[in-house]
Amino acid sequence: MSLGSELSECEVCGAIGLPERIQEHDCQPFLTQTQRESASTRDEARSVSDE
Ligand SMILES: [Zn+2]
Repeated sequence: MSLGSELSECEVCGAIGLPERIQEHDCQPFLTQTQRESASTRDEARSVSDE
């Protein structure tokens, strides 16, 4: 059992899935998601720092 060997990671957005899916997928949603997570984390850190 080696499910990991069946998955591939997109070099552009870091999305993980089947190689076929990765080749055809759209990077934009994944890139937007990453940016939102980063911004959210940054916001929280700043709030804690202010207090
Ligand atoms: Zn991608």
